[in-house]
Amino acid sequence: MGRASRDKRDIYYRKAKEEGWRARSAFKLLQIDEEFNIFQGVKRVVDLCAAPGSWSQVLSRKLYLPAKDFAEDSERPLIVAIDLQPMAPIEGVIQVQGDITNARTAEVVIRHFDGCKADLVVCDGAPDVTGLHDMDEFVQSQLILAGLTIVTHILKVGGKFIAKIFRGKDTSLLYCQLKLFFPIVTFAKPKSSRNSSIEAFAVCENYSPPDGFNEKDLHRLLEKVGSPSGAEDLDCSSGWLEGPNKVYIPFLACGDLCGYDSDRSYPLPKNPDGSYRSLEPVQPPIAPPYKRALEMKKALNNGAQELDRLSLDS
Ligand code: SAM
Repeated sequence: MGRASRDKRDIYYRKAKEEGWRARSAFKLLQIDEEFNIFQGVKRVVDLCAAPGSWSQVLSRKLYLPAKDFAEDSERPLIVAIDLQPMAPIEGVIQVQGDITNARTAEVVIRHFDGCKADLVVCDGAPDVTGLHDMDEFVQSQLILAGLTIVTHILKVGGKFIAKIFRGKDTSLLYCQLKLFFPIVTFAKPKSSRNSSIEAFAVCENYSPPDGFNEKDLHRLLEKVGSPSGAEDLDCSSGWLEGPNKVYIPFLACGDLCGYDSDRSYPLPKNPDGSYRSLEPVQPPIAPPYKRALEMKKALNNGAQELDRLSLDS
């Protein structure tokens, strides 16, 4: 789908350009905030899987920019963003390029906090989707677990964790795993997230690790939830995992219900002559994974044109 046709079909894609967001995902975080007030009292945030940076922009606009002229240096909000991809700079956002499943990346993030804890961790991580739901859901769950590992090291007790999930057959297991650490877990679907997408967001509130929890035990603990007797051993409401119908997951649609619908078409912005007015991207990716493919294609085209020219000359 070309840029213009996407502009025409997707209101949030177009609105993002109009309002200066690098991606339409910004609206998802804004709509989650409308419902859950996730930024209240927040000074330190980690944005996992942040590129191209629209969530970091939201964090900068909501937390950093309003405070930067008043607060002392040490009081200014701290926002650390991590992604595999490099990101163009955003005011007030420290960037770390790395893989969140790698322990070394987590260590770099922790170092930026200099012994302090974060109030909020957000994770919009997504693998390159294959279309094979089970596989995509599995890879996505690995990203959430990597996010949860960082959470257990960096999030303050009482803090919040927002993570993108793919709904599928293991959703109830994931819910139970998150419930081990957060007494309140809601799966939310912002209005800007298309109905056709299996994406939703886990909104986890009031971080409260189990008594005596040691971060090194995270994976053993999570595996136990998935084992037949595990849930009971861990006293996480025994019986939860006996059958899919036994788990009732709070699921909430969020965002202004009278607001834009991501699956509808809306009137298009027009030039004075009546033609369609397309907007440029706010921030094109600075090093997209497909960059080399584009360069090779361009070189091939140039080569073909040169051959044509030579054959015409001769
Ligand atoms: N929240 C972002 C925004 O608002 O601009 C969009 C995030 S995009 C949907 C998903 C991101 O996850 C991609 O930029 C991708 O590079 C990143 N990602 C996927 N796997 C990752 C990993 N293992 N470590 C770090 N980033 C990862």
